[in-house]
Amino acid sequence: MQQIFETYAAHVLPTYGRFPVAFVRGAGCRLYDAADRAYIDFASGIGVNSVGHAHPVWVEAVARQAATLTHVSNLYYSEPGGRLAARLTALSGLRGVFFANSGAEANEGAIKVARKYSHDRYGPDRSTVVTLSGSFHGRTVTTLAATGQEVFHRHFGPFTAGFRHVPPGDFEALAAQPDDVCAVLLEPIQGEGGVWPLDGGYVRQVAALCRERDWLLLCDEVQTGIGRTGDWFAFQSLGIEPDVVTFAKGIAGGLPFGGFLTGARAADTLGPGDHATTFGGTPLCCAAALATLDILTPVLPGIKAKGAALRQAIAEMGLPRVTGTRGAGLMIGVALAPGETPRDWAERLLRAGLVVLTAGQDALRLLPPLVIGDDDIAAGLAIFQATLGRY
Ligand SMILES: *Cc1c(COP(=O)(O)O)cnc(C)c1O
Repeated sequence: MQQIFETYAAHVLPTYGRFPVAFVRGAGCRLYDAADRAYIDFASGIGVNSVGHAHPVWVEAVARQAATLTHVSNLYYSEPGGRLAARLTALSGLRGVFFANSGAEANEGAIKVARKYSHDRYGPDRSTVVTLSGSFHGRTVTTLAATGQEVFHRHFGPFTAGFRHVPPGDFEALAAQPDDVCAVLLEPIQGEGGVWPLDGGYVRQVAALCRERDWLLLCDEVQTGIGRTGDWFAFQSLGIEPDVVTFAKGIAGGLPFGGFLTGARAADTLGPGDHATTFGGTPLCCAAALATLDILTPVLPGIKAKGAALRQAIAEMGLPRVTGTRGAGLMIGVALAPGETPRDWAERLLRAGLVVLTAGQDALRLLPPLVIGDDDIAAGLAIFQATLGRY
């Protein structure tokens, strides 16, 4: 592995603080490094490998599609694209879908829908998108502007104008916004910011305000969507009808894919030439997404209970370094005691054979594959308990 690290050091831009491991293969919820050591995967490549690694149904679907037709561009129709669109609109209850490649690109599209919707009705002076402090919406210059964390607003200015941030849960701050707003963009559970679920009552108030003022409600479900929280989309258990819902990470079980769904109000906003992307919705990625949805359909009803049991098990460990858990389904934040550094604990857990993520300032973040079984959960928790209880 040392040789791989050195090649990276010599040739790859140092934009990531990588953990010291090179993985070479995965099977189910286990990863194997270059020395063939096994690790339990509680990270899913940041919520992407929702069906685990090398799932036979997924592998078969992707291999078959790769050998048939990988890409044709959006100048033509493809059968997997139509089938996936019908499937996603049915399971979300929304009307139309646009296929893109990543979470940031999906959010860019949602922002464009909101601005055009408003421009068509009210002209150019109503273009501000309000987002929440602590949010994360991506790494493009526009989605960085949307992201409500000051650390992301350095180095790369000028950022796209037309974004303001309000504290999550502070309805009055939103209601007091001036008359230049076209949309509110929010994550139902803030992921990168620390796994902070928004209060359901607050979200319903926001949805009602959006209706009243004819602002679009944009839900960034790049992390929460496609089953992660135990619903296909987190908005479905909040009692709201968003106008645009973005998704990405878990949709295609590991291939780069994202997009946005529009509800009835926004479905007719974009027309020919208004938006496009070369790689969006390739037959290969659509086949991977269809296989992913097939695999997840029977698994989905058990995800909330699985997550609750995992959190209960952590609580029962009584670890002094753990102050609590938060989240929904298999999107779990484990809050560490003041003074503990999540990154250091993630590295210790990795060395002990458990892959986890961090979130915000104080939390470890667990995003295991949604297909994880009780045995792999137990094996991962044993490493978690032994490591967090040591030192
Ligand atoms: C990861 C993430 C993004 C960015 O997705 P990319 O695919 O990295 O561009 C945007 N929003 C949320 C909520 C995310 O978790």
